[in-house]
Amino acid sequence: MSDLAGMDRPSLLKPQREVPHVHEPKVANKSTPYWWEAAPVMPLPPQPLARTVDVAIVGAGYAGLSAGLALAREGRSVAAFDAMNPGEGASSRNGGITSGSIRLDYATITRRFGEEKAMAIEAEGKVAREFLYDFIKSEKLDCDFQLVGLFKGAIGYEQYEKMARGAEALARKLGIESYAVPYAKQRDYVGTDFYRGGMVRMDIGGLHPAKFHAELLRVALASGLAVHSNTPVTSIERDSSGFRVATSAGTVQARQVLVCTNGYTDGANPFLRRRLVPVRSRIIATEELAPELMARLMPKRMMMGEGRELGFYYRPSPDGRRILLGGRDSSRAGDPAAPTLRLRNGLGEIFPELENVRLSHSWFGNVAMHRDMLPRIFEKDGVVYATGFCGSGVVWAPWVGTRAAHKLMGHGEQARTAFDFRPPAAVPFYRGNPWFIPAVIKGYALQDRIAWWRASR
Ligand SMILES: Cc1cc2nc3c(=O)[nH]c(=O)nc-3n(C[C@H](O)[C@H](O)[C@H](O)COP(=O)(O)OP(=O)(O)OC[C@H]3O[C@@H](n4cnc5c(N)ncnc54)[C@H](O)[C@@H]3O)c2cc1C
Repeated sequence: MSDLAGMDRPSLLKPQREVPHVHEPKVANKSTPYWWEAAPVMPLPPQPLARTVDVAIVGAGYAGLSAGLALAREGRSVAAFDAMNPGEGASSRNGGITSGSIRLDYATITRRFGEEKAMAIEAEGKVAREFLYDFIKSEKLDCDFQLVGLFKGAIGYEQYEKMARGAEALARKLGIESYAVPYAKQRDYVGTDFYRGGMVRMDIGGLHPAKFHAELLRVALASGLAVHSNTPVTSIERDSSGFRVATSAGTVQARQVLVCTNGYTDGANPFLRRRLVPVRSRIIATEELAPELMARLMPKRMMMGEGRELGFYYRPSPDGRRILLGGRDSSRAGDPAAPTLRLRNGLGEIFPELENVRLSHSWFGNVAMHRDMLPRIFEKDGVVYATGFCGSGVVWAPWVGTRAAHKLMGHGEQARTAFDFRPPAAVPFYRGNPWFIPAVIKGYALQDRIAWWRASR
């Protein structure tokens, strides 16, 4: 039972006032990630290419490095290749929210994969988050991690009731500290009247994503992992002793291969490219705000999410001086101003006080979506893949990458995961040009408008 009963329900469900579009030629000072100010991504010193290795890893983001670390610590010779600077993919650009969420709801997972699998997937989110937190602590990773909790805002009372039931189920089934927040108490969590209450879960926090990647790279290199930056893998061919992995720096013979390219998968892997669709996600950062304003808008310094399909996620910067807000970006080329303006208007809808705030940074990166919408390990023609994180890889990529490493080493128990199953289905008529993304995003926006309309009836 939720605590709405008897509450004074304000009837206004739309944003209190229409926010005019901002017409400024310059929407943010910088188009590089705010995170790179403290932890810039950099090339590694060139090093000779080993002729043979036990394992070759394609991609040196969170997934590739976590796998490489686990393998190297077990004495395997491992070379990881990245087409860019390590971390320059999504792993140094993200919001740093340790959500570990799954885009499919429990009912859909149960319908598709059965009750047992659905339960296992739900329970694994908790284990994967704890794995990340233990890893940060035990390795003493300097990445501004704070387990502050997450508030998720409801766009109407129906959604609030659903969230309240969800919070109660999380606490009962998984022992996660989670609870509903009625509208009357909302301002204790977020300085806005935009939502109609929400829910809190205390098992989610925030980290500095680029520092986390840099620290992961540090421990992986110290463990003996060879990381080759700006060295794309151009083909992988099977032969009698394993695989011939061709890179821009030469060819290496590998007994096993792990692919961790997620939203940056290129034409070198046409099989994966037909299955993962890169979708842009964008984040804006405000300039520094007054401490009193920050204390009013984000009193508990929590991570923030929303119940909308195309909802925003937002958070304070680790030093508590700025707000960073992210959301989908339907552009496919260049760096147009419109997506930044959409996010900026969204920020102004939530916090009217920030309507005219200046932005210091606006940047985007790719997340990988696919038809099954579940992160996964799978195998195809002997190559193992750890990928498909659907915008929630801060928790999933280290977890799935590490499980994939144990799978390669034949470790039964440590490799066990509910995410080890078949390859995702190919996307029909898709060969690497996601022409349909703007239409899909418009579809979600329409669903959100309908939800607003229903909530305000
Ligand atoms: C703007 C944004 C916000 C996000 N916010 C959050 C968040 O708050 N919380 C959350 O959980 N997740 C978030 N994510 C998602 C998260 O960042 C990713 O899921 C995660 O970083 C994926 O890690 P990865 O190692 O699989 O891939 P990546 O970090 O993307 O690394 C893949 C690497 O593969 C390399 N590569 C590709 N092809 C080749 C090739 N042929 N040869 C060699 N290398 C190759 C690329 O250069 C790239 O560096 C966000 C993502 C973005 C873009």
